[in-house]
Amino acid sequence: MAQSFRTIRGTFDILPDTSTSEGTSIPGTPAWQYVESRIREIMRRYDFEEVRTPILEETELIARGVGAQTDIVSKEMFVVERGDSSYVLRPEVTAPVVRAYLQHHLAQRGGVQKLYYIGPCFRAESPQKGRYRQFHQFGCEVLGADDARADAEMISLMIAIYREFGITNTRLRINSLGGPETRTAYREALRSYLQPHAEELTETSRKRLATNPLRILDTKDEGERRLLAGAPQLADHLDEVDRLHYDQVQRYLDDLGVAFVEDPYLVRGLDYYGRTTFELESDDLGAQSALAGGGRYDMLATELGAKQPVPAIGFAAGMERLFLAMSAAGVELPGRHVPDAFFVALGDDAAHWVFREAQRLREVGLHVGLDLKGRSMKAQMREANRQEARRVVIVGSDELERGKVAVRDMASGEQEDIALERLADYLRTTTGETA
Ligand code: AMP
Repeated sequence: MAQSFRTIRGTFDILPDTSTSEGTSIPGTPAWQYVESRIREIMRRYDFEEVRTPILEETELIARGVGAQTDIVSKEMFVVERGDSSYVLRPEVTAPVVRAYLQHHLAQRGGVQKLYYIGPCFRAESPQKGRYRQFHQFGCEVLGADDARADAEMISLMIAIYREFGITNTRLRINSLGGPETRTAYREALRSYLQPHAEELTETSRKRLATNPLRILDTKDEGERRLLAGAPQLADHLDEVDRLHYDQVQRYLDDLGVAFVEDPYLVRGLDYYGRTTFELESDDLGAQSALAGGGRYDMLATELGAKQPVPAIGFAAGMERLFLAMSAAGVELPGRHVPDAFFVALGDDAAHWVFREAQRLREVGLHVGLDLKGRSMKAQMREANRQEARRVVIVGSDELERGKVAVRDMASGEQEDIALERLADYLRTTTGETA
C-alpha cells in the first residue's frame, strides 16, 4: 500500500480556504495575511520596528534565556542535535530578540529600541484547542527603558491590537514581582510557609517548592489556592523603588484608560521576569484562556552575556488564540482574494490573445484569471463562478475582429462591450468602484 503522509500532531497547514485540523477550524491564508498586516500597521503606529530572527537557536540560549526550571525548557523543547551542536526550534522569541540586540549592538542606534516580531514557535505540549506544537506568536520588546511609561505603553499597545479586531471581552491582570532581591527574599518566605504543608501539595508543586516556589502561586488547584490565601504576600515584600514603579505603571494605565485588576498571584511561567508582569485573558476561550502575556525582564541581557543590564519589557501573544477569540466574538474575516476579471476565450486565436492580454493586465496591477486547460466556454464560465470573479471578459474571434470584448459584471449580470485598447482602464476604474 502506498504510504500517505500527514501533518505532525499539534501542527497544521494553513490553506487558501478555512480548513479543519484535529477538530479546530484553521482560518485560510487571506485571513492570516489580513490579521498580520493589521498587526504590523498597529505596531508601526506605536513606533515599533520589525525584527526577524531564525527559527533555530542554540539550545543554551533558550535554556538560559527562558530558565532551566521552566516547563518550556525542562519538558517542551524540540531539540535538534547535529554533531556536537544542540539547537532548538524556538519556543518563544524574547530570548532570540535580546540575543539579536546584543549581537548587533542595536543600542548603538541610539535611544530606546522598540522591536516587534510575528512568526512560528514550537513547544512539545499535549495538543488541544488553543494549544498546538507549532503555533504563531506576535509580540514586541522595548529595550533600554526602565521607566513605567514603557510598561504602560506596552500594555496599552497589546490591548489596542485586540480592540482593533473587535475583542473587548477580556480581562487584564497585572502584578509586580519586584527586583531580584525582593524575589529572593520572597521566595524564601514562601518556601518557609509552604514547607510544613508539603504533603498537601500536588506533585508538580512539591517539585516547584524546591526549584521555583513562585510558580506555585499560579496553581489552579483549589486546595493549594486555599493554602496560598494565608501565605506571605509578594506585595508586602516590594521595596520602595519597586512599589513606586508599580504605582506609576498603574497611574499611566489610568491615563490611557486601560482597565486592569491587580493579581498578586500572577507570576507567569518564564524565569526572567521581574517587576511588572501582566496577562490578558478572554472568557470566550475555554481552558486555554490566555490571549497574551508579558512582563519586565531587566536581568535577561546580563544572563545572556551583556556587561551592563538592559532594562526591558515585552509581551507575546498567540495568533491562533486571537483567531479563536475573533470567531467567538463573531468577527468576519476576509475570504479568498477574488479576481478582478476572469477571461473566457473561444477558439485558438482568442486563447492566444487572452494569454497575452492577461499578462499585460497583470503587469498593470490587475488580478486576472484565465483558463489553463483548454476548456469549453461553459467550463470556463463555471471556473469564473468558482473563483467568484468580479467580471468575466468574453473573447471570441468575432469580438477580436470588431475590436471589442464583452465584459459581464457577475454581481449585476450587466454586460458591456469594451474596446480592446480601453480594457485595462475600464477594469481598473470599475475595480476601484466595486472593491
Ligand atoms: P507564553 O510565552 O507562554 O506566555 O505565551 C504567550 C502567548 O502565546 C500565550 O498567551 C498564548 O496566546 C500563546 N501560546 C503559548 N503557547 C501556545 C501553544 N502551545 N499553542 C498556541 N498558543 C500558544
